[in-house]
Amino acid sequence: MGFLDIFYPKRCLVCGKPGAGSGSVGTIEYICLKCVDKVEFVGDDICTKCAKPECRCRKRNFYFDCAIAPFVYTGAISDSVVRLKEYSDFSTAQGFAHYMAVMLKKLVDTSEIDVIVPVPAHISRKSKKGYNQSEIIARYLSKLTGIPFDKKILKKIKPTMPQRNLNGEARRHNLTGSFAASEKAARGKNIILADDVITTGETLNCCAQELKRAGAGRIYCIAAVTTK
Ligand SMILES: [Zn+2]
Ligand SMILES: [Zn+2]
Repeated sequence: MGFLDIFYPKRCLVCGKPGAGSGSVGTIEYICLKCVDKVEFVGDDICTKCAKPECRCRKRNFYFDCAIAPFVYTGAISDSVVRLKEYSDFSTAQGFAHYMAVMLKKLVDTSEIDVIVPVPAHISRKSKKGYNQSEIIARYLSKLTGIPFDKKILKKIKPTMPQRNLNGEARRHNLTGSFAASEKAARGKNIILADDVITTGETLNCCAQELKRAGAGRIYCIAAVTTK
């Protein structure tokens, strides 16, 4: 047994205090009432092509079929991402996965999804940190939705520089040839691709391109947060 089997008691995604959720007074699931105004939810007007509250993709053709995220990347929620990413606070992943599952149910016909796949990290990075935060999120999302989890479908075979330090063409170039999908595992599957943060969508696009090359069906991307 490991962290995979653990469901944490509900804690506020922002302040980390326990007690958020059913049965306690003054709370909304994983965000307490004191913090709820600090958080910006992505509303129903979301562009489901690029996951932005106001479309930034101008109907660009991505390899994925859909991209969504429940939170806007603002100060309060970006701290929660850091707690998950850098400080092994996996209860945060459980909170994020809750809101992701709610959004998925609302916007996607999940009955046609075969598998949830995390955006993979390169082995060198994973062994340094001990885990891949996208995998933790994807595992909770799988538990909450009942859709099987599979990380063997897609692997990162080449280490890359952090995308945030690059722009445009350099982002694409950085990722080229860095992912490899298993044709045997991917063929014909409708896949949810899970990540922590969507910025330009370039990483997800590169993963989706490789999965489609391997014969995957529809690809639905979901992240915990999206930049505006
Ligand atoms: Zn709070
Ligand atoms: Zn858009």
